[in-house]
Amino acid sequence: MTKLESLVEISRYYGNNSDYVIAGGGNTSFKDDEKLYVKASGVSLGTIDQDGFVVMSREHLSLMEDKNYPEDTVAREEEVKQDLKTAIIQPEHLRPSVETSLHNLIGYRYIVHTHPTLVNALMCANNAKAEVEARFGNEALFVEYTDPGFILFKKLQEQIGAYQKEFNSSPKIIFLQNHGIFVGEDSTRAINALYDYTVSKIKEGIKEPLPEGGAEERQSDAALAVARIFEGRNLLSRAYSCPLSDHFSASKTAFQKISRPFTPDIIVYCKSNYLFLEKGLTEAAIEERINAFETSHGYYPKVIMEEQGGLILVEESEKSIATVLEVFHDMMKISYLAEQFGGPSPMTAEQVSFIDNWEVENYRRSVAKS
Ligand SMILES: [Zn+2]
Repeated sequence: MTKLESLVEISRYYGNNSDYVIAGGGNTSFKDDEKLYVKASGVSLGTIDQDGFVVMSREHLSLMEDKNYPEDTVAREEEVKQDLKTAIIQPEHLRPSVETSLHNLIGYRYIVHTHPTLVNALMCANNAKAEVEARFGNEALFVEYTDPGFILFKKLQEQIGAYQKEFNSSPKIIFLQNHGIFVGEDSTRAINALYDYTVSKIKEGIKEPLPEGGAEERQSDAALAVARIFEGRNLLSRAYSCPLSDHFSASKTAFQKISRPFTPDIIVYCKSNYLFLEKGLTEAAIEERINAFETSHGYYPKVIMEEQGGLILVEESEKSIATVLEVFHDMMKISYLAEQFGGPSPMTAEQVSFIDNWEVENYRRSVAKS
C-alpha cells in the first residue's frame, strides 16, 4: 500500500467511527520532507479519497512559522489565508483544512486530528489539565484553550518547541482544551495503537457510563407550536428525546449544564445559544420567547429544550437537522461524562464571539451544507 493509500484508509477508519468523528469534524495528513498532504476543508473524512487532499509545499508552510503577521485579527487571518493559498501545490480549487499549519508543525509522518466524545469529556472538564498530567505525564502535551487559527498555531509552535527541548522528541499526543486531540506517528498502525491507549487511559476515569439509548422522534404541544411558528419561514423542525435529553430537560438547572457551547465545532453547527422552554407555555408565549431569542442573538434557535420533554431542532433541511442532532447529542454526552472530571467547563463569552466572527468557519459551514 502506498503512503497515500494508507492515509485514505486511516482517514476513512476514523471518519466512519462516530466515537471519534462527529459531523465530519477532524482532519488527517501525511508528510514527507517536501510535501504535506492534508484534508481539504469541507470534505468528509469518512468518504474521502486521494482527491480530497490538498498537496502543500512544506517550505512555504515553514516560512509562515517565522513570519511577522499584523496584530489586527482580520488583517492577520486574511494574510495567513493568502500565504496558505500560496503554499498549495495542487489542486488550486480546494482550500486546505484550517488546521493545516498545525499538521506541518508536528514532527511525524501521519497525523490524525479528531474531536472524540471521550477525549472532549476530559478536554471540556474543569480538571482537564490536572487529569492529563496525572494520566499521561510526559507522554502528552496539554494545550490550554486558544482561539483557533494563527494564535493557536503560535501557541502550539512554542509549546512543541519547549517539549522538544526537554524530551528530545516531538509530542505524539497533543490535547487541545475545549477542542480535541492530535495524534502523530510514523505509521498508521502506530497511530491506532496510540489512540487505543489514549482512550483506555481516559476510560479508567469514567465510573458512571452514559445512559443507554439513542434519540427517538416524539411529539408534543410545544413541538407542534414550534413547527407552526417556523413553517411560514420555510424552516423545518423535529422533536426528539433520549435518556440524555431526559436528564438535561428535567429542570432549568439541569439545562444550565448544556446551555453554553464546549467546542468551536458545536458553534459551527448548533450556534452558541440554545432556548429553554418552561413546561406548559402557550403557543403565543412560545412565539414570544422565540422572538426575544432572535432579537438578542440575531438568529433563530436551532436547538430548543422543552422542559421535561426533550429536544426540538430547527433547520433548513432534514440533512441539517440530522447534523444538529448528532452534534448536540454529542454535546450532552460530553457534559454528562465531564462530571467525572470535575464538571463541565464551557467556552467563555470572548472565546465564543471569536468563533462567531471567524470567516474560515463560515466557509466550512457553507461547504458542509452544500
Ligand atoms: Zn479541530
